[in-house]
Amino acid sequence: MVTMNNNKIMALHQAIEEHQIKGFLARDEAEALYDLALASAPLGPCLEIGSYCGKSTVYLGTACRDRDTVLFAVDHHHGSEEHQPGEEYHDPELFDTSVEAINTFPSLRRTLALFSLQESVVPVVAPSQVVVKKWATPLGLVFIDGGHSHEQALTDCMSWADKIASGGLLLIHDIFPSPQDGGQGPYLALQAVVARGNFYWEQSINSLGVLRRR
Ligand code: SAH
Ligand code: MG
Repeated sequence: MVTMNNNKIMALHQAIEEHQIKGFLARDEAEALYDLALASAPLGPCLEIGSYCGKSTVYLGTACRDRDTVLFAVDHHHGSEEHQPGEEYHDPELFDTSVEAINTFPSLRRTLALFSLQESVVPVVAPSQVVVKKWATPLGLVFIDGGHSHEQALTDCMSWADKIASGGLLLIHDIFPSPQDGGQGPYLALQAVVARGNFYWEQSINSLGVLRRR
């Protein structure tokens, strides 16, 4: 995606590398997050499920700061299935031995401080399914990148889709139409949201699916 804020985006990419912010997000996807968050700001605040150490949070949060709105960053910070000890994406540096659990919240706070986002990002440290139950504010953009099992992706996409303002965006990460490329949970969840009728597929950027509410 060609962004109108090329210098700004390049500076963010550079700072992410310099500070070694851990995460799972490609550059083109990061740029799309920034641009789409800028564009959706007039419709309402942004919200993400799955902040991890704050990589996606930096791009969405900076756009929110630029538009004087906020990003709610939801994560229980105990990691997904694939981050647990013995699993493929386990990172021992993020394991808190005092409680025998993953804890990415300190890393997120470090990222927010490094990027001056404390006034623009509201961390919500809780499971997605708990937060959504009492959520009432219509959202301009929701980015789903939490648990990737079929069940969790479906629950997240279906429940948060209802909280999006008319004309707002539902972004779903790790969309792999072919099973050889990755898990099918997010892709099946995207299809289920579209099948309900009030969202349509607008574009994909790498593995980022973009749906818009009618
Ligand atoms: N967006 C991040 C990567 C997210 S990894 C990036 O840009 O790098 C997935 C994250 O989802 C993990 O931090 C995990 O703790 C969180 N997560 C998984 N299931 C969750 C749930 N049910 N509720 C809240 N967070 C969840
Ligand atoms: Mg992801």
